[in-house]
Amino acid sequence: MPYQTARSLLPATLHHLEVLLIDDDDFLLEVTAGQLHQLGLTCVERVNNGLAALQCLRDRKATARQIDVMICDIDMPEMDGVEYVRHLVSEQYTGSIIVLSGADDRMRTAVGTLLVAHDLRPLAILKKPATLGELRAALMSLATERGLPRQKRTDDQVPHRISADDLREGLANGYLELHYQPKVSRHPQARTSAEALLRWRDPVHGLLSPGSVVPVAEAAGMIDLLTRAVFRSAAKQLGEWIRAGHDLSVSVNLSMDDLTQLDLPEVLTEIAVSAGTHPSQFTLEITESRFMQNAVACLDVVTRLRLKGFGLSIDDFGTGYASLEILQQLPFTELKVDRLFVQNAHEDPIAHAILESSVQLAHSLGMQVVAEGAETAKDWQCVVEAGCDTVQGYVIARPMNAAAFIEWKNNWDPAQYNLQQILEFN
Ligand code: C2E
Ligand code: MG
Ligand code: MG
Repeated sequence: MPYQTARSLLPATLHHLEVLLIDDDDFLLEVTAGQLHQLGLTCVERVNNGLAALQCLRDRKATARQIDVMICDIDMPEMDGVEYVRHLVSEQYTGSIIVLSGADDRMRTAVGTLLVAHDLRPLAILKKPATLGELRAALMSLATERGLPRQKRTDDQVPHRISADDLREGLANGYLELHYQPKVSRHPQARTSAEALLRWRDPVHGLLSPGSVVPVAEAAGMIDLLTRAVFRSAAKQLGEWIRAGHDLSVSVNLSMDDLTQLDLPEVLTEIAVSAGTHPSQFTLEITESRFMQNAVACLDVVTRLRLKGFGLSIDDFGTGYASLEILQQLPFTELKVDRLFVQNAHEDPIAHAILESSVQLAHSLGMQVVAEGAETAKDWQCVVEAGCDTVQGYVIARPMNAAAFIEWKNNWDPAQYNLQQILEFN
């Protein structure tokens, strides 16, 4: 394709990106450089090893013509891509990266994870040789980001954290609210349930999410107060719903720090019963990543919660540690597959394999499986085909206040659990 007509392949704002291309294979270096020219990029520099690339970065930095995008092979003889990434971090490289590699899918996934862990910005991890379309798509993502500051997060993106005093005052003044998100089962006879999610009605900052509140309570040693307030509010609400004739159950999130309180089973049972409900109408969700830090207390509390009748759920399954050990040792009734594996399952074979094997494993241990974070019809179809019992996510409904939740429930027909109904709801 002649260069002149190909210029339209990328918007003009991207034509002056400073690109550094690194590949030890001279032929592929040539091919990729040609593709970049076809895309209309003019400021392309090429080198065939990591050391030369680092020198180039330093030279560019000295002349204030910094590299915007680095297109990098990861299999290079004298300095492999992983070592190279480590050097990039010490060079404080703030541009973007496209990885081109002949390595298999899992290796490329590992490199992508490593880049993100280092706070670098991968635009794409491509199998080489990449097509012109793939390179273009990767670079196009810069069209929307260009002009933004390079830092990962600007100050106003950092969620506002309340203080420990705010927490104490807010609990006394009713700033705590719960929003409810449906968890719908594909078994028509199963009870509809809702996950209660904490919200904080801050007088200055408006409605805050759990990330503004829960870590503060944990750090201030006040998580027991917060959890009790959340559970009390959820139990009161469920009691009202049951008295109004709704057949519902509610899930409440616990913090790992709650599991060191040996009287938690008694405290929660007492709250449930006083609200006119029963522990069996609740599921307690616990994120698996911090299990086993205090294994004995955790095992004691979790086992006794189950004895009292509470359902127990492993939240965000697949993103934490020691998953198999926990499944084997603790009496969980439900496993919630993290949305990472739900949202990628239809296009990523590894995510799909993790989703399917989590379902099989949980079912073989007699646990129910919930797919969380299903956002699209494709996600929904994928998790139902994989055998998940329950689906939760924006494709069904977002978290909403108690009145909106009941309105949703009144319109939801569990016997019509199909994509058509789900799409009609959106
Ligand atoms: P979680 O328990 O895994 O809750 C699910 C989170 O995913 C919720 O975020 C929910 O709004 C969000 N979500 C649901 N469906 C979708 C979807 O389709 N797409 C996407 N992108 N997100 C979806 P939220 O409410 O911000 O809660 C975040 C986390 O905070 C919760 O994760 C839970 O770990 C924690 N949390 C919430 N309420 C409480 C609480 O009362 N106590 C404690 N200790 N932790 C809580
Ligand atoms: Mg949860
Ligand atoms: Mg979760």
